[in-house]
Amino acid sequence: MSDFFEERVLLGYHIAYINNQTEKTVAEELERAINNIDGVCRCQLCVEDIFMLSLNSLPARYRHSATFRLVKNDPNLTDDMVKKAVANAIAEVSAHPKHD
Ligand SMILES: [Zn+2]
Repeated sequence: MSDFFEERVLLGYHIAYINNQTEKTVAEELERAINNIDGVCRCQLCVEDIFMLSLNSLPARYRHSATFRLVKNDPNLTDDMVKKAVANAIAEVSAHPKHD
């Protein structure tokens, strides 16, 4: 179990192809949003915080990349939900950055 996070091995199988589609969707929206809002800190700490806060407020959508298909109009992960989550995370981190 100790190698799980570094090697993504489960019961001897590599599970590197199991991906959370929410991460990709949030990453795309984060890049779009941060480029459209002036004054957002882009240091690694703030970008990681925005990414984590966004992901923690949205449902995970795990898929196998070999059978990966973008699910359109997924009621559990709408564009509106992603946009709101990222906007809220940017506002939160901008108001309370973990640095001076
Ligand atoms: Zn920062």
